[in-house]
Amino acid sequence: MTRCLAALSASLVLSHAPIVAAQTFPSRPMVMVVPFAAGGPTDTLGRIMAERLGRALGGTMVVENTVGAAGSIGVGRVARAVPDGHTIGIGHWSTHVVNGAIYNLQYDLLKDFDPVAQIASNPQLLVSKNAVPARDLRELVAWVKANQDKVTVGTAGVGAASHVSGVYFQTATASRLQFVPYKGTGPALVDLMAGHIDLMFDQASNALPHVRAGKLRPYAVTAKSRIPAAPDVPTVDEAGLPGLYIAVWHALWLPRGAPREVVMKLNGAVVEALADPAVRKRLADMGQEIPAREQQTPEALGAWHRAEIEKWWPIIRAAGIKGE
Ligand code: ASP
Repeated sequence: MTRCLAALSASLVLSHAPIVAAQTFPSRPMVMVVPFAAGGPTDTLGRIMAERLGRALGGTMVVENTVGAAGSIGVGRVARAVPDGHTIGIGHWSTHVVNGAIYNLQYDLLKDFDPVAQIASNPQLLVSKNAVPARDLRELVAWVKANQDKVTVGTAGVGAASHVSGVYFQTATASRLQFVPYKGTGPALVDLMAGHIDLMFDQASNALPHVRAGKLRPYAVTAKSRIPAAPDVPTVDEAGLPGLYIAVWHALWLPRGAPREVVMKLNGAVVEALADPAVRKRLADMGQEIPAREQQTPEALGAWHRAEIEKWWPIIRAAGIKGE
């Protein structure tokens, strides 16, 4: 009898667990794991979202930078976390798509995460330190070729968006570059402005404030159209590197197994944040594009993520990019 009652109460607890979890969530501070260094594009977007999501959920969301191996260390930390909604991972095109093609990951990018929502997407800017003598992309390519093997390019690690774009540049221009890996493009950009390295492909959101301040020279944006936040910067097609389109989209995931109600509560907070005029303005100023409302669902992120993997893995593998 006691055993029967225990079994009954256990099944009641189990069947009510998701509802209880959603009602009490968040029950302690939430952690957003940013898999790149502080001061970079993923960190900046993560901090804007964490502050606003914490407010929407009536709690606090703190940012934790768990860096290394092009973001795969931080993403692994999320994969192993308790799936109760208190550990949330922010990732992007390279951590959740490219890395699967080039690293032997300890987690499955599709099976080990529950999608929450896409947040924003921005292309990259090809930028140089001001001391580089080139005035436009054609002059830059000529300068790179004249300085073969000496030109240094900062990246956030092998496979990061900043690296993949550099590899593409190298192939398209038949040049050889020296890639210098950092724990994120935040610190790489600081070195670029200080003149320690020559070039970078960095996300518009990270590079734009420094371009506007005249501390970096922009050559092209990796998109089909110019972006409203940088209308003077030509597209790769206009500037002379046709087809180098890379959109670095960011999204949020939970470890697989999170209660559906918790996923939906977090998703609702993201939708609220992305509708907030203050958030929209900040992101637009940084060159970030917010997905349409129907693209903000967990299902839309799941479908988009799968489609991006199917599209990019063959391209990345054919490019011969190998993990460190
Ligand atoms: N997202 C990286 C960062 O925040 C940069 C990259 O992927 O290139 O540093």
